[in-house]
Amino acid sequence: MTPKQREALWDSEVARSKAFGWGELPRCNLCRCPVGIGQAWDVSHDGTPKALGGTAVGVAHRKCNREDGHEVTRTVAKVKRQRRRHIGASGPGRGSRPLPCGRNTRWKAKIGGGVEPRLSQGQRLAQTKRIKQVGKQ
Ligand SMILES: [Zn+2]
Repeated sequence: MTPKQREALWDSEVARSKAFGWGELPRCNLCRCPVGIGQAWDVSHDGTPKALGGTAVGVAHRKCNREDGHEVTRTVAKVKRQRRRHIGASGPGRGSRPLPCGRNTRWKAKIGGGVEPRLSQGQRLAQTKRIKQVGKQ
């Protein structure tokens, strides 16, 4: 953000503070305390983090914003992990090297040893019908 944009943000936050009757100083959007003249401050995302599509920004103490950043980083990473798993982009066996004979491979390992091709549900049903017909004869 350019100094001009930061100045505009500061001015809009001062106007908002005055409108709410909170005084002449902008409020930190994290701790809600006034941000004093000369105090270090950051442009802070208000509500939804930028990494998750948030666009609203406000003024925050630099100390508050940096502390909040640690928590937000962890939360965003978790949200992204959960989403990847939810849509099936990641999860057990979805990596570049799935577990040999795992449930996402074409082969299955038998308990007593040995490997056989993994059949689809329809293929298994057809195989069962064939076995039953042979049994009747
Ligand atoms: Zn603060």
